[in-house]
Formats: sequence, C-alpha cells, structure tokens
Amino acid sequence: MARIVDKYIEIAKRRNPGEPEFIQTVEEVLGSIEPVVQQHPEYEKSGLLARLIEPERGISFRVTWVDDNGQVQVNRGYRYQFNSALGPYKGGLRFAPSVYPGIMKFLGFEQIFKNALTGLPIGGAKGGSDFDPNGKSDAEVMRFCQAFMTELYRHIGPEIDVPAGDLGVAGREIGYLYGQYKRLTTRFDSGVLTGKQIVMGGLPGRTEATGYGIVFFAEHMLQANGEELAGKTVVISGFGNVAWGTADMLQKKGAKLIAFSGPDGYILDEAGITGEKVDYFLTLRNSGKNICAPYADKFPGSKFFPGEKPWGVKADLYIPCATQNDVHLEHAKQIVANGCKFYCEGANMPTTNEAVKYLQDNGVIVGPAKAANAGGVACSAIEMSQNARKMPMDREEVYAMLAKIMKNIHDNSAAASQEFYGKYDLVAGANIAGFLKVAEAMNAQGYV
Ligand code: GLU
Repeated sequence: MARIVDKYIEIAKRRNPGEPEFIQTVEEVLGSIEPVVQQHPEYEKSGLLARLIEPERGISFRVTWVDDNGQVQVNRGYRYQFNSALGPYKGGLRFAPSVYPGIMKFLGFEQIFKNALTGLPIGGAKGGSDFDPNGKSDAEVMRFCQAFMTELYRHIGPEIDVPAGDLGVAGREIGYLYGQYKRLTTRFDSGVLTGKQIVMGGLPGRTEATGYGIVFFAEHMLQANGEELAGKTVVISGFGNVAWGTADMLQKKGAKLIAFSGPDGYILDEAGITGEKVDYFLTLRNSGKNICAPYADKFPGSKFFPGEKPWGVKADLYIPCATQNDVHLEHAKQIVANGCKFYCEGANMPTTNEAVKYLQDNGVIVGPAKAANAGGVACSAIEMSQNARKMPMDREEVYAMLAKIMKNIHDNSAAASQEFYGKYDLVAGANIAGFLKVAEAMNAQGYV
C-alpha cells in the first residue's frame, strides 16, 4: 500500500538530483513518521512535509585565500539554514573535500530533529566548505577561516544562526572564525559561535560532550534491555573528537575499548585502550595526516590492519564515530555474525538504511545518531545560554545537565516508538519525538 510520505520522498528526489545522502536521510526520517502523519491529516493540508524537506535558505559562496606559496586558492563555502521553528538555526561547520550540497543538506536535515530532541530552543542548520584542513599550515587554516567568515558573517548572529564545529572544525578553527567575525562587526557577540575555547566564552565540557553523551545514551540502551555497560567489549571507528570523547567515557564507565580505525585501516589492542592511549588520539588528530597506523608503533601489543574496517572484530557494542556511510550491509552482516546485541551511532548517519534494517531485523538494538550524538549540540545550546547570561558555568554542572538530557532523549524516543509502533525501536522513536516537536511549532507559526 502506498504511504503518504512517499509523495514527499519523490518531491525530494526530483528537487535534489545527484544528492543521495540527502535522499537517504529524507527516506529514513519520513519512513518512520508515516503512522504519525496518518493520525494527523492537518499535516498534509498545511503542506508540512513539503515545507520540512525544503531548506528555509541555502547559501553558497566563493572563498578566496592565499596559501603559503603565495598561490591563490578558491574553495566553495555553504550554509544551509534548514528550519527555525524551534529557535535560531544551529549546527556545525564541516571542512572536508567531500563537502557538497548533498552532504550539507543531509546534515542540516538531521540537525533539525536532533536539536528538537535535546528539548532546547534551537533550529537546524549546517555549513562548511570543500576545504581540506589536512596537511595545511596553521597560517593557511587561519587565512582560510578569515576568508570564509568574510562572507558568512552577514548570515549569522546570536539570535539568527549559531554555527559550531563538525569534521575538520574544532577549537582552533572556531577561534579564527570568531576573531574575524569580531573584526568585521566590531561586536564581542560570544553567542554567535559555539565550541569556543573556554578563555573566550566557551563552555567547560563542550569538547568531550558529544562522546560523553554517546556513552550515556548507549548505557541507557543497555540498561533498558537488562544489561550493564561495565565489562562490555567495545569497537569504535574514527579517532577524531567524537571517538576521543567516547573512548574517554568508556574507560570511566569500565567498558573495554579494543579497536578503533582511521581512513588507513584499523587498530586492534586487546589489552584495552585506556589512559595515555586515549590521549594519543589527540596526537594522531593533531598530526594532520589523518592516519591511525602510528598507534601500533607507539603501543606494543597492538596491531594495525591496513585498509580494513574494524567491524569484523568481535565485541558486545559497536559505536561508529567516523563519518557518514561507514557501515554497509556487508559490515552489518559481520556485526550480526559476531553475536553483537548493541550498536550505537556516534557519527552522523554512519550506517546505510539497508544496514540499519538488517541489524534491527536480526535483533540488534540500534541507537540512532540524531539521538545518541545530540549531547554535543545540547552543550552548544548550554554554551549559548552561558554567553547570554554572561556568567561562566562549571564543568560538573554541565556534565549533570548533559546526563539528564541524554536520559530524556533515550526515554522520549523509547516512549514515542512504544506509542506508534508498540515496540522498543529507538530509530523510529527518535524520528517521531523530534518530528512532533518541530511539526507543532511549525504549524503554530502559520504557513511560512
Ligand atoms: N556538528 C555537531 C553535530 O553534528 C555539533 C553542532 C553544534 O554544536 O551546533 O551535532
């Protein structure tokens, strides 16, 4: 039987040709909310879904900068302001060669529901550039950030749109972007960017918030299914900011991380990745080479597997923390064959839709990224409120808020899936819980 949402998936396909990542997330979200849409005929009448899949605004701009050899370089910058029903646009900036409108739109669309799930007043957006920070000097990164902000500053503001980091954008880049924003506007609007360094209005705890939140979420998933996180073996992918925070909280919770990966292959360390080994993720990241192989030279007893993904390693819990579409059907089959029961997404959309389906059909509990990794953006919203009240918060206060937010996201997602599907399905539940909030606010604001 044809579903109501299929009509809107077709519209998205027609309007966004050659952008499969965006279509993938539209299919995923709209697929989940069919029973909600059936129950609310007013959504159809008010064009709610047609509005939802169309960004409110998307800009693309030229970014011209000069490299260390005096050569002029040109990149393309973007900001997709997707939905402002719940608050000012909010979402990260990604600097990576793979960035193009399909990636910006998938991230911006996901961000709407993720941000809604936090329960905080933030709309959804994403931006970035096809600039590759790997191998660039510090001065080059600074000049690029300044050139990027020279256009972006017109479109953002503490009550308009508040960018933050994502792949390739962390404290250093946010600092350079902020410096240029301040120079152009002559305003110390600390609330215009989040993920700032603490010395200039950043929030204690924001750096580790995404990874910590993921582990809190995974723990709720396990507990809801009668298991404990302590003592479990874990495999992750990536070694960037999200992977690092995840690894750190896993050790604090007494779980045993035994493998992680980079674009060059994966590392197996059966002794467990704790202490200085977790800190070594930062060294790998700061090397600018984007490889994990040096870990095996540094820590005897560990082994590097070139060109392979870590999903064949047997574990109790898998947490992909690298990037989109890291886990395909063949990997989902390995994960199921390993006898795993828990899979929690850390990166944005790390799993293809067919791989998610295979995992769920085979009894694996899946924690979706938009719920599990919402701790980062939630702490960004807390950073905005710290900046607005001009009073610094302390780390323990932030951790307590983060823990509470992650529990609420888990419980609200579980309750929504019970209500509409009669079962514990966090993928469907997160989509429904996020969607219902946005839908209510959108329709309350008239047909805009
Ligand atoms: N890029 C992060 C995310 O995917 C953080 C966004 C933010 O803090 O605004 O949620």
